[in-house]
Amino acid sequence: MQIYSQKDVKKKALKGARIAILGYGSQGRAHALNLKDSGFDVVVGVRKNGDSWKNAKKDGLPVAEPADAVKGAALIAFLTPDLTQKDVYAEVIDNIAKGATILFAHGFNVHFKQIKPRQDLDVVLIAPKGPGGLVRRQYQQGRGVPCLMAVYQNATRKAKDNALAYADGIGGTRGGVLTTTFAEETETDLFGEQAVLCGGATELVVKGFETLVEAGYQPEVAYYECLHELKLIVDLLHEGGLAKMHQFISETAKYGDLTRGPRIVNAATKREMKKVLKEIQDGKFARQWIAENKRGRKRYKQLMNKDLKHKIEKVGVKLRRRMPWLQETA
Ligand code: NDP
Ligand code: MG
Ligand code: MG
Repeated sequence: MQIYSQKDVKKKALKGARIAILGYGSQGRAHALNLKDSGFDVVVGVRKNGDSWKNAKKDGLPVAEPADAVKGAALIAFLTPDLTQKDVYAEVIDNIAKGATILFAHGFNVHFKQIKPRQDLDVVLIAPKGPGGLVRRQYQQGRGVPCLMAVYQNATRKAKDNALAYADGIGGTRGGVLTTTFAEETETDLFGEQAVLCGGATELVVKGFETLVEAGYQPEVAYYECLHELKLIVDLLHEGGLAKMHQFISETAKYGDLTRGPRIVNAATKREMKKVLKEIQDGKFARQWIAENKRGRKRYKQLMNKDLKHKIEKVGVKLRRRMPWLQETA
């Protein structure tokens, strides 16, 4: 595995170039501000009636509507929500210069062929492995969130140099830039969020909470045990893997982990994980999510409502009020 750092960046790549950042949300804001501080000529492309227009102005950046922002840009970063990028691309494509680079922070639209990039363009991916707030904070502290880099289309033969120069501009080369493909980034990202990070972790928390409450234990105690304390364990894993967690938990916790853990997340769970992965790989998940958006997200909204009405949410609101320090780190 090749990991690039600052010394690998070509001095001439994107030198003095104009970079258009489409979208000024989590990633867009962080990329735009970091690139500006790195000396690039940055313009933000957002719709005139949205909050982002005001936010980018307030931050002192030049702002234009997307179709104008891309004019004369050597690189255009698509940083609006994934399901909006197809329309944004259609809106701006006629104004993108020949031989320009288009950049994504997640491969969804290119990999699942929602966007079929014009042949003359370089098409690259720079995906920071962290939310925008962290990308900005780490940069300001002289560090950087690691990034994944991929090239999908290399029309000018400079695609990789440009991608790396962009990663350098947002601070990514300080943390390390790892090479991947659009397929690998897209499929692993979707699998991670579905099976482990978002889908898996929250379901584990909720089912654990329900089990304790249904057995007659107090919901407040169940909340602390199954949700609140998860952070402690995740932090240990994050900092030092399984070994560090084992250093900090009791002997009894270790024995319970080793003997009961595999009964909770078991062979059936792993079989289901493989099915979930298959649905990502064969495009079933993408088709379903795209269709859901076309239908106005009716089922998505129903499921979201149900999720947010769960008892664990009511208990959580009440208990978190007494822990004001939790809001300070958000
Ligand atoms: P956000 O949801 O934060 O993007 C919001 C921005 O998009 C706002 O500027 C908003 O403008 C604009 N926007 C929303 N809807 C539309 C629309 N219909 N048309 C035009 N502009 C619109 O996006 P993220 O930063 O979360 O994600 C951007 C990309 O980065 C995605 O590809 C995502 O997968 C990827 N990514 C995200 C990560 C994250 O941590 N969030 C991590 C790594 C990659 P307005 O104010 O006008 O509504
Ligand atoms: Mg994701
Ligand atoms: Mg275990």
